[in-house]
Amino acid sequence: MIFRRLPKSLPVPGFVTSICQTLRSSGYQAYVVGGGVRDALRGETPKDWDIATDAEPSAVEKLFPETIPTGKRFGTITVRESNHLIEVTTFRQDADYSDGRRPDSVRYSNDIHEDLRRRDFTINAIAYDPLEQNFVDPHQGLRDIHRRLLRTVGDPTERFREDALRMLRMLRLAAVLEFKIHRTARSSIHSDWIASVSLERIRDELSLLLPAKNLAPSLTLMHESGLLRAILPELADCVGVNQGSRHKWDVFFHSVRAAEIIKPELHLRLAALLHDMAKPKTRTVQNGDIHFYGHDELGETMVTNVLSRLRFSNRLIQKTALLVRHHMFQIQPDSSPKAIRRFIAKVGRDSIYDVLELRRADALAMRIQPRQTHHYFQLLYQRVAEVLAEDHVFTVQDLAVNGYDLMEFLQIPPGPYLGDILDFLFDHVMEDPNDNRRKVLLQIARDYHAAHESSESSTRE
Ligand code: ATP
Ligand code: MG
Repeated sequence: MIFRRLPKSLPVPGFVTSICQTLRSSGYQAYVVGGGVRDALRGETPKDWDIATDAEPSAVEKLFPETIPTGKRFGTITVRESNHLIEVTTFRQDADYSDGRRPDSVRYSNDIHEDLRRRDFTINAIAYDPLEQNFVDPHQGLRDIHRRLLRTVGDPTERFREDALRMLRMLRLAAVLEFKIHRTARSSIHSDWIASVSLERIRDELSLLLPAKNLAPSLTLMHESGLLRAILPELADCVGVNQGSRHKWDVFFHSVRAAEIIKPELHLRLAALLHDMAKPKTRTVQNGDIHFYGHDELGETMVTNVLSRLRFSNRLIQKTALLVRHHMFQIQPDSSPKAIRRFIAKVGRDSIYDVLELRRADALAMRIQPRQTHHYFQLLYQRVAEVLAEDHVFTVQDLAVNGYDLMEFLQIPPGPYLGDILDFLFDHVMEDPNDNRRKVLLQIARDYHAAHESSESSTRE
């Protein structure tokens, strides 16, 4: 829980305090700063603790037996202490610039106030001295944590112009921490400045933003500020696209809702946010009804393109695009085992539950009664689980014979024809799972081969 009254002390771990102690005994200042202080004040366990000091990097290296010069040029030395890695950074007057044009020489400082002034948000600009147990909080960050408010240190327009990445950090932090954004900071977003930020940095912020709990307000502001159009124009095109009476929201807000509903894993969040992105391009009206024929197929291509542009990994792109491709599936709780088997085979065992998850979020983000929807998907999950548990064949690799068996048994060489036989056997087993036995399959393969041979010879005659 966020504190009621200003806490007297923070639960700084011993290995962090010990580094501060060493710095202090050598006559230097030492504070914990940044996200660690912020998260501890919010009652969370910090991911990591960072230390700020007036000792210059070379002095830090001399003081500790085990160090790594991770960002020495910019003042950061990583210290290993009791098997933990802690970043110790010299007070600085200026921040890195996210366009990669880092200042050639950073200006160190011996004043913690100067170091806090270069930081992005007031809640990230609180220093805490774990030895004296006091806070240095010149920008009222403690009050803002209490009010759950994001405010920039100093004038937001200036701070965003200096480093446009901060606009995305603000949206991300608001979503992750469930904080509001101060109105001046909201209105100071300049979407065209984001062009100076590398796509990799944008990708990294989106990857932190999307799994957040409170997604809708940040994505809405992203749209209203024009940042969405600058980063994901295809999704911006979904704003205002009407989907007919079954839907409560336009395509954009429906997608945002679906993303908020689905489990907080990056590929699922991306799939939910982008699953209908081809709707604006495929929308038709027939006899007053709205259709989006083929939006799943075109969506797969668009998602692949968008995510490649944003430098996401191929693995993540494939996983996400596959879900978009199959989100309009036909199977239902009363589908035949064969139909369910075929669908699992098409999507793959690894993604089958993800596709169900996407479709469930999709349905819950319409206007259907949630109770009914939950029940429906419960049944569908159950059916799929039953079919999966029967240990069926879902890929050619699951067949009781492999290519080598066939090559030997039929005396044929490797090549496309061998693939044809395996596909035939796979199709057969999908229809008739009981036939997945070596003897039976070899027999079927022999018949197939004999028929093939005779049709070959008759065309030759
Ligand atoms: P988290 O680690 O939870 O993502 P964080 O606030 O610790 O959040 P880091 O990227 O680890 O974020 O940065 C550490 C600190 O450095 C921040 O708390 C902030 O004080 C400062 N900082 C980071 N990025 C910027 C920036 N672009 N401009 C100004 N200060 C920044
Ligand atoms: Mg951090």
